[in-house]
Amino acid sequence: MHRKIDIEALCAEKGLRITEQRRVIAKVLSEAQDHPDVEALHERAAEIDPGISIATVYRTVRLFEEAGILERHEFGDGRSRYEAAAEEHHDHLIDVETGKVIEFTDPELEELQRKIAEKLGFRLVDHRMELYGVDLSREG
Ligand SMILES: [Zn+2]
Repeated sequence: MHRKIDIEALCAEKGLRITEQRRVIAKVLSEAQDHPDVEALHERAAEIDPGISIATVYRTVRLFEEAGILERHEFGDGRSRYEAAAEEHHDHLIDVETGKVIEFTDPELEELQRKIAEKLGFRLVDHRMELYGVDLSREG
């Protein structure tokens, strides 16, 4: 599901000024195949430009989030994790033991949610679904 998204191009579209450091952070975010937190992003960005501080990463992801370029998730451990908002819609299953995040989509679930909203008198425009589980194959 993680197709590569050009965050830098999205910044340009939204009229965000792109500095050299923001460009590096955008590149790291564009290439992320997971849901990195700020520390992981900082580690990856600092490999490209050691001058990038964690404070800059914090400010930049907040800016990208406010511009609607990034989506922030909290998967039960109190850490904010990021992925491109332009990703195709998907939901997340979190392994509570390892923190591993599995992405999935389920048309029946989508339909059910739409129906529930409708029953309550609403047209569904968005939702967030997080499942938390224990990996049966490791339960022994
Ligand atoms: Zn995801």
